Amino acid sequence: MFFDTHAHLDDTAFDADRASLIESFKDTGVTRVLNASSNMASSHATVALSEKYDFIYGAVGVHPDSAERFSEEDLEEIEKLLTLPRIVAIGECGLDYYYDDVPPEIQREVFDKQAALAYELGRPIIVHDRDAHRDCLEILKKFPGIAAVYHCFSGSVEYARELVKLGFYVSFGGAVTFKNARCAPEVLKDIPHERVLLETDCPYMAPVPHRGKRNHPGFIPLIAEKIGELWGMSAEEVGRITTKNANTFFCID
Ligand SMILES: [Zn+2]
Repeated sequence: MFFDTHAHLDDTAFDADRASLIESFKDTGVTRVLNASSNMASSHATVALSEKYDFIYGAVGVHPDSAERFSEEDLEEIEKLLTLPRIVAIGECGLDYYYDDVPPEIQREVFDKQAALAYELGRPIIVHDRDAHRDCLEILKKFPGIAAVYHCFSGSVEYARELVKLGFYVSFGGAVTFKNARCAPEVLKDIPHERVLLETDCPYMAPVPHRGKRNHPGFIPLIAEKIGELWGMSAEEVGRITTKNANTFFCID
């Protein structure tokens, strides 16, 4: 069994066939999916998906791309949504310095507020860190013991080790299957298996041989297979280990 810990099933890319696609996951052994939100509208869509399907969990929160529209009311709303069944985390939130559409100081303020809420409520947080390693860590270190997962990790072995030392988890997606994947295979061979999660980040980042096409949770076994090659085990065993990790991290079961 497999757990896709980071999907965007509310994305318009799934509008035409969402229901039939979701029903098809189980045939591929994907028994749990966590939908990550991008903004408040997306957070409500995540809640709706989690109410409709008992194997869909949700994270609610605001991505740095939408940080400019963030308000105090949104923070209160996030707290309220976290009381619902299967809404288990805050995210995805963080910092994205690759695109400079949103001023970094606004991104930092919005990430800081969501991290503070996660810490206060004892809920895990899903971190988006793109070209913002130092600032991301600086904010998270303000909340010692916070449960964080770095999603779609593409950093160095040294950086991964630092995150593991802080008790964080690291999540990997389709990029590990790319021929030009540089750091990810090294990181996966270096850090403890117990800190690794699987994700698709669908509809983006489809694994080989679907690279460039629409991604979805049914492709998780392809990612597990690649990690299995690095770990010297079957995709099923990778699925078993990473599902256990995800259940622990998100406090499910
Ligand atoms: Zn995402």
